[in-house]
Amino acid sequence: MWGRSAFRGGVTPATHKAQTQTQRIRQFPFAPLLEVPLLQHAGRPALPVVREGAAVERGAVLGRADGERSVPVHAPAAGRVQRIALMPSVTGAMVPGIYLEPFPGATQEVASGTACDLATATAEDIINAVQAAGIVGLGGAAFPTHAKLRMPPERRVRLLIINGAECEPWLTTDYRVMLEQPADVVLGVRYLLKATGAEAVVLAVEEDGREAGEAVLAAAPEGMSLKASFLPTRYPQGAEKLLIRALLGVEVPAGGLPIDVGALCINVATAAEIGRLLPFGRGIQERVVTITGPGVLDPGNYRMPIGTPLRFALEQVGTAADVTRVFLGGPMMGQPLASLDVPITKGISGFVAFTSAEYRDAGRVQPCIHCGRCVQACPMTLNPCQLGLLARHGEVETMRRDFHLDACFECGCCAYVCPSHIPLVQEFRAAKAELRRLAAHAVTEEKS
Ligand code: SF4
Ligand code: SF4
Repeated sequence: MWGRSAFRGGVTPATHKAQTQTQRIRQFPFAPLLEVPLLQHAGRPALPVVREGAAVERGAVLGRADGERSVPVHAPAAGRVQRIALMPSVTGAMVPGIYLEPFPGATQEVASGTACDLATATAEDIINAVQAAGIVGLGGAAFPTHAKLRMPPERRVRLLIINGAECEPWLTTDYRVMLEQPADVVLGVRYLLKATGAEAVVLAVEEDGREAGEAVLAAAPEGMSLKASFLPTRYPQGAEKLLIRALLGVEVPAGGLPIDVGALCINVATAAEIGRLLPFGRGIQERVVTITGPGVLDPGNYRMPIGTPLRFALEQVGTAADVTRVFLGGPMMGQPLASLDVPITKGISGFVAFTSAEYRDAGRVQPCIHCGRCVQACPMTLNPCQLGLLARHGEVETMRRDFHLDACFECGCCAYVCPSHIPLVQEFRAAKAELRRLAAHAVTEEKS
């Protein structure tokens, strides 16, 4: 049994998971037009390999990876390429993408490619197959998984952590994937063990997801050393650094990576996709998305084709007339969307729609009363109160240098507990953006 120490700070908001936790994953229909971004991951956009007007099979490669920090993009439906053009994304930026018109009556059947045989594949074969499948971190980061697996030879993975600690309120995709696809998770873990040579593997799940974690353990073949750690249900338990602290009892150094302390963290849905796709040489064409919240009439977990427009998705599940805010991700780390005209991408695990009655708008901001609640809640032992004051004075360099702004991973605990409703996380995001701008400016100055 790996450690289960709770971290310092954090919060325990109502989880609201009951709305979708007990419902089976349902297959979503194809939208009349799918909008498939060629940039859905951290890194360089994929390069289109199809022409406008081309007919493609479901699962065919639409865009190839542009180098090591890139992954290919696959067709989410059999159809015709209508246009290759810039399209809106959930970040607000326009990105290159492919508009795909599914054929009338297109089935869910997916084209297969070259299988990656677990028995005979080398570590490098598996890492290449993970890249060819277009797999990225499905927990939200969308970092290319193959790049995480391909590490310097002097690094050793002591502990492979399969992250099923879905701590964000409302979201239940990982829970349902573990419950309904335990064999895929286990097979994915076996590929990952072979690819990394990890000494040990542990599935991390919060107590309220115990049933799902046990389903995965039950699917493990005899002799497989897969263990589980059931951690206290406390937000943000699923954060990579906090999991490592809980399981290994060590801190990832500031600015460092988990591998610096011998850990590698892979989201459980990502592991399931590896197990689901690699034996058939297929690529990601869909993912499980939670659509929920008080403003959704038919909340649930849906297996959605990549590129499904959010507006179409909400029309299918039905929404209340007075939906005022739709969050990408949960309300803690997620962000309210400025537009519904954005597509579902690989890194999106859920949407939460709030009605005017439920959504507490940040309109009632009051001055800081120095109550210290934000300091107590911060799991990174930062001083959000002081950081907030500095942010309001534009002292971003002091925030970085003296108050460790870089260690803030925007979990939202400080803002959640603040009785003055100060939008601390927005202030920190803006300060980080300003620091990036200053750094880029300094580089330009140096070159000129
Ligand atoms: S958002 Fe940043 S400062 Fe606030 S609690 Fe989380 S880590 Fe700490
Ligand atoms: S919780 Fe809000 S009011 Fe209290 S110290 Fe922090 S910023 Fe100030």
